[in-house]
Amino acid sequence: MGACPAIAFFAQTRKDSLTMDSIIQYFETIPSSHRSLLLAGGITFFWLIESAVPLFRFSYHKWKHALVNIFFTLTTIIVNFAMAFILVGASSWAVSNHIGLLNWAPELPIMAYTIIGLLLLDLIGAYFIHWVEHKVRWMWKFHLIHHTDVHVDTTTANRHHPGESVFRFVFTTAAVVIVGAPIWMVMMYQAISVVLSQFNHANIQLPKRLDDLLSWVIVTPNMHHVHHHFVLPYTDTNYGNIFSVWDRLFGTFSKLDPEKITYGIDTHHSIPEYSHIGTMLKIPFGEYRAPVGAKFREGTPEQASQS
Ligand SMILES: [Zn+2]
Repeated sequence: MGACPAIAFFAQTRKDSLTMDSIIQYFETIPSSHRSLLLAGGITFFWLIESAVPLFRFSYHKWKHALVNIFFTLTTIIVNFAMAFILVGASSWAVSNHIGLLNWAPELPIMAYTIIGLLLLDLIGAYFIHWVEHKVRWMWKFHLIHHTDVHVDTTTANRHHPGESVFRFVFTTAAVVIVGAPIWMVMMYQAISVVLSQFNHANIQLPKRLDDLLSWVIVTPNMHHVHHHFVLPYTDTNYGNIFSVWDRLFGTFSKLDPEKITYGIDTHHSIPEYSHIGTMLKIPFGEYRAPVGAKFREGTPEQASQS
């Protein structure tokens, strides 16, 4: 009698590790076509939902707005594609030389190993970098292009200046080495990151209680939309990418009612600064502008277009 549950347990564990094995194998050799499909499929999926049940009924031309963001998404893809071999090389170098936190840790069950690895990649390669981008002026001047969007939706997720894509890539590579992540984990991380980022930028609203509950584990739309509010202190909160634990742990978590959110950034809010590709490409090479704060509330584009 007593042996049965034990056998069942071991059989289940074996089944779990087999499933995990096939997941690992999949991400180890994930074809570029699947990665592209995930990106395009995610945008399409959230685009359809936000068209049907939007959080804000923006008075904007959804396609025209998307074209600008798709341009910056393409430059992000080009940068990452061109340098992908560096990432692959860094990961295999770390693993084969037994370098990085995961390789120094005692042997863990595969599930724990995966979750800890993803959490650490998210902390070093996303949360920390994002925080640095908000604190270091020359980096902020690149990153603020992401924040100029006054109509945040799913296409905003990959709206990054190509310069930002380059230095973000450098940090991602460093994170992979510090964590000592195998390539399947890096690919798994990036796949989850792409879809989650499209999800938490999307112009959608989950039922409030569900959003609150989920925000204990992952970065939800409500949580990330606060980061896109146009003034401090909100802009400097909710840096998280996949997991919300880092904001909660480091005291950068904040809440703001969606009705009170105004998208954009107080320092760059003229029409060309948020919608003209050429102007935006040049922003990082212009003067740094100090935050001006709430006194611009009346004049923000979103408010203007609503009045
Ligand atoms: Zn930001």
